[in-house]
Amino acid sequence: QRILITGGTGFIGQALVSRWLAQGADITVLSRRPAWVARRWGGMVKAAAGFEQLGGQFDVLVNLAGEGIADKRWSRGRKQVLQDSRITLTRNLAAWASRTGQRFRVVLSGSAIGYYGSYRGVDDRPHNEQDAQGKDFAAQLCADWEAAAEPLQPLTERLLILRTGVVLGTHGGMLKRLWLPFSLGFGGMIGDGRQNLSWIHLQDYCRAVDFLLSLDADNTVNGVINMTAPQPVTNHDFTRDLARELQRPALLPMPEMVAKWLFGEMSELLLKGQDVRPQRLQELGFSYDFADIRDALKDIARHW
Ligand code: NDP
Repeated sequence: QRILITGGTGFIGQALVSRWLAQGADITVLSRRPAWVARRWGGMVKAAAGFEQLGGQFDVLVNLAGEGIADKRWSRGRKQVLQDSRITLTRNLAAWASRTGQRFRVVLSGSAIGYYGSYRGVDDRPHNEQDAQGKDFAAQLCADWEAAAEPLQPLTERLLILRTGVVLGTHGGMLKRLWLPFSLGFGGMIGDGRQNLSWIHLQDYCRAVDFLLSLDADNTVNGVINMTAPQPVTNHDFTRDLARELQRPALLPMPEMVAKWLFGEMSELLLKGQDVRPQRLQELGFSYDFADIRDALKDIARHW
């Protein structure tokens, strides 16, 4: 099958592309860095720097591109970049698909669990796919990103929106930032530690993507899928389990004031969280390799 992916050079995208290559798929990565794609996978993966370089029909579209939410403070300019890199790109993707008469079997388009809003531990409650949109910047960003994918609906048998949780894997994502400080014994709880982290192991994320792609054509699964493990973990427990895995103490909690001072509005990502449950994946019968955070961290530590 012919797969087109945006964000294929990223932490999640690379894992997907490598997995699909092993399955013998015909993969094209839409990327600002085609030379990087050529270096990473030799000639085995095609790279297109723009829509004009995309030829023919694709069966599957996976749309994950977006500037890193946690990479820089959320200035007004940065917020614009976060939006444009997702919403404008998704709109352009839909316009290209319509113009070139694409008829996809499945489209998976990105979003995040930030859709449901961010909560302090005590205010949090389990969210499933039917829950309403939250009110903060991240929630609006996700809602706009999801809306931008709607024009793809008539061009595909199935359109799935992936509300992705915090993906845990080696050498990327959130753990990449935490690994060094925790390895040095400088890790610690953030705020009161009661905020929920709805996480998923990268391996399960990729398995879930393949599971969703493999549902047969008459399967009517459309709409939103929460991409998280069955159980979230509190920041307190996550901190303890990561420190334990690295055999280091985690003694230095980061007080709320310090997080706000360091990260501005973006500190919401650290001080608040959300309890998100993968109701639909579970209803569909998806089984996890890593349902327990300790097993996930153990596996990641082994492969780091
Ligand atoms: P990465 O930051 O590792 O990769 C993002 C990709 O998006 C890059 O490969 C890049 O492709 C592309 N990109 C970045 N900026 C732009 C831009 N301005 N214009 C066009 N493309 C751009 O992200 P992840 O792999 O971690 O995540 C993939 C998606 O999933 C992201 O949109 C992210 O927000 C979302 N997500 C991730 C979570 C996580 O825990 N990792 C959690 C929830 C959501 P290139 O340089 O090739 O053009």
